[in-house]
Amino acid sequence: MEAMTMLDDILTLWLEERAEALDADAALAGALVPRLALAQIFKTGVPASAGGSGDKPSAAIGVVADLARYSMSAAFVFWAQRALIECVLASPNRALVQRLLPSLLAGELAGAPGLSNAMKFLGGLGQLQTRFTSDAHGFTLDGRVSWATNLQRQGFVLALAAGNQEGTDTSVFAVPSDADGLTREPDLDLTGLRGTSTAVLRLAGVRLGEDWQLHPQAKAFLPGIRPMFVGMQCGLGLGLARASLRAARAALDDGRSVLLGELEALEAQVRDLWEALSTGVDSGRLRERPPELLGLRMRMVEIATDAVQLELQALGGRAYLRGENGGFARRWCEAAFLPVVTPTLAQLKAEFARAQVTGTVG
Ligand SMILES: Cc1cc2nc3c(=O)[nH]c(=O)nc-3n(C[C@H](O)[C@H](O)[C@H](O)COP(=O)(O)OP(=O)(O)OC[C@H]3O[C@@H](n4cnc5c(N)ncnc54)[C@H](O)[C@@H]3O)c2cc1C
Repeated sequence: MEAMTMLDDILTLWLEERAEALDADAALAGALVPRLALAQIFKTGVPASAGGSGDKPSAAIGVVADLARYSMSAAFVFWAQRALIECVLASPNRALVQRLLPSLLAGELAGAPGLSNAMKFLGGLGQLQTRFTSDAHGFTLDGRVSWATNLQRQGFVLALAAGNQEGTDTSVFAVPSDADGLTREPDLDLTGLRGTSTAVLRLAGVRLGEDWQLHPQAKAFLPGIRPMFVGMQCGLGLGLARASLRAARAALDDGRSVLLGELEALEAQVRDLWEALSTGVDSGRLRERPPELLGLRMRMVEIATDAVQLELQALGGRAYLRGENGGFARRWCEAAFLPVVTPTLAQLKAEFARAQVTGTVG
């Protein structure tokens, strides 16, 4: 069941040797984007006409999954960069696209999507944390972004959605890290994924020209990027599950263990999830069917959680020995990230419960 990898051997070795460090501290945070850029993987799944590699969109999900087999930190930073690229690709603001896209694809500029607040807000949850006013010269933004990843010290561009004062409009902006009034807080004190450059941002009177507006209507914009946002998130769990199942298989005694049936069932579920996801994203079917996409997203969390649990059972007591568990402890913690990234499992459960009543999801 070993899946083909789209990463070169030198990169996988680099990740293998640094996976624990990327999870445990921020020392390698600045090296991560340049190292991924060296492998040219940010172009994956981007149309050739836009400067990308011209392969199918699912190829980008495949890269997330490949990275997550080695390091969730690397996979999530890749997700952030590629998600920001999706935002730019979907923007009707051609001048902004031309200005940002080449450096994002080359990994010379880091991309940070701070859109979970807006996604929740448009799903009917909570308040928008950023507001904008407009005048003849452009926009002024105030507020905060509670979570954003890939806020590289060398500079970044952030995507966020802000509401107007009247509360009638929500607009999506790109904000450069050197904008006056934008403050990046120190990295959050995370329990893992500490190499992901994740922090809070504060905006106080940030002035932006119209040439920084990604889209005037978040309500129209966000559903368009959702299949790739959510699809690539599924790659996180797919890769983690593959790594755990591989470790579990290696730990089983001659394939005769009592756990073999569960292992084979989970391997089949991973294959089925990949099949449904990749064909659905490439054909555009999942764009038309949000409930199916969100159902796969929930399934991903279950499969990854079950896979790490199975790895624990296959390893037995060895799982508790530092230095002898082959990365199990890190994967256990990485699995805990999957239910809390927006759309969180709680949000998805709430949405499906609501659908039972109203008959619509997404
Ligand atoms: C390491 C890390 C990196 C991150 N990076 C980014 C990033 O780059 N960009 C970004 O935008 N965000 C990022 N996030 C934020 C992430 O995507 C989530 O938005 C965040 O973790 C959700 O937190 P929450 O407490 O609001 O969870 P939720 O699950 O949304 O809410 C928590 C509480 O609300 C309840 N609840 C949730 N939904 C409902 C509902 N519909 N009805 C009733 N109750 C409900 C839950 O039961 C729970 O009690 C990151 C988070 C982490 C941990």
